[in-house]
Amino acid sequence: MKFSFFDGHNDTLLNLYNNHKNDAESFFNTLSGGHIDYERAVNSGMEGGFFAIFPPPYTSLSLPDPEKFLTPEGYDVPLPEAVDPEACRKVTDEMIDLLYQIETNSNHRFKVVKDSNELEKTVQNGQMAAVLHFEGAEVISPDLSNLEYYYEKGLRSLGLVWSRPNAFAQGVPYRYPSTGDIGPGLSEQGIALVKKSNQFGIMLDTSHLNEKGFWDVVAHSNAPIVATHSNAYALSPISRNLTDEQLKAIGDSNGVAGVTYSVNMLRKDGKMIQETPIGEVVSHIRYIVQLIGAEHVALGSDFDGTTLPNEINDVTDVPKLIEALEKDGFTNDEIERICFRNWHRVLADTWK
Ligand SMILES: [Zn+2]
Repeated sequence: MKFSFFDGHNDTLLNLYNNHKNDAESFFNTLSGGHIDYERAVNSGMEGGFFAIFPPPYTSLSLPDPEKFLTPEGYDVPLPEAVDPEACRKVTDEMIDLLYQIETNSNHRFKVVKDSNELEKTVQNGQMAAVLHFEGAEVISPDLSNLEYYYEKGLRSLGLVWSRPNAFAQGVPYRYPSTGDIGPGLSEQGIALVKKSNQFGIMLDTSHLNEKGFWDVVAHSNAPIVATHSNAYALSPISRNLTDEQLKAIGDSNGVAGVTYSVNMLRKDGKMIQETPIGEVVSHIRYIVQLIGAEHVALGSDFDGTTLPNEINDVTDVPKLIEALEKDGFTNDEIERICFRNWHRVLADTWK
């Protein structure tokens, strides 16, 4: 059976911004390289996804290399420094313009969706649906005075942090083996941002947040708890992954965890090795389903933002993953939930 899918996280805007001169037309050009472009995505059944804006200085190629920070047991990459909010604002505005330029150039094939009806209609019409996501809240003023500006621009999903500190929270450094319990929880402004995001109906993403921050979001948010691209710590004990207790909190809130294909977060040894079988992705999905149910697991690729297994070279290999889920015994109903229905539900519950 052919399934469509909605993806929890991609860095395709970053790829276009860094490698294609911020040119929207490249998205419709199959030569654009990277993991996602329009043709490859649509032909693979991608009905939509979260399109992240990740401000500088890092590109997916310049992230700190774990091999440079080895420890006797694994690695411990120091937390990068906070970045200048003003510089982030400039790039963020340019990347928002890029996203809408893609919509304009798409000839009604691509739409930035801002409410649940729009999401359903867009998908039904066979258009690709994009959710505007910020991977880190650097651009938001600590007094939250410009949150409405970004909401008006279409912001509907907000990661409090990437793996670095900002005014609101502390990101989790890449450490293996380690839980995410590294560093302090949310600041006062961070708690205020959670509450105000709830009021606007902006989805909060806990991926890249440290564990104390995660529990602060659980304590203060009235929306489903979401991690767009994080896996099971029980199978891959890296700080970016979620412990059973965190996964249970996600399930209890009727939220969702998006399983990422990032090899270091799939593998038991935490290494950046592309020779990682597709079965590792299936194992993480199976584990989380058994722990909290198929209503709380989704896909969160991290396409264009990480190192992928050889067997998932780009978006065209997602059908292979779905086939592997079928072979593993997942029912069609479970696969539909994992592939798109859970994301639709969580967005409907959050955006209302
Ligand atoms: Zn990420």
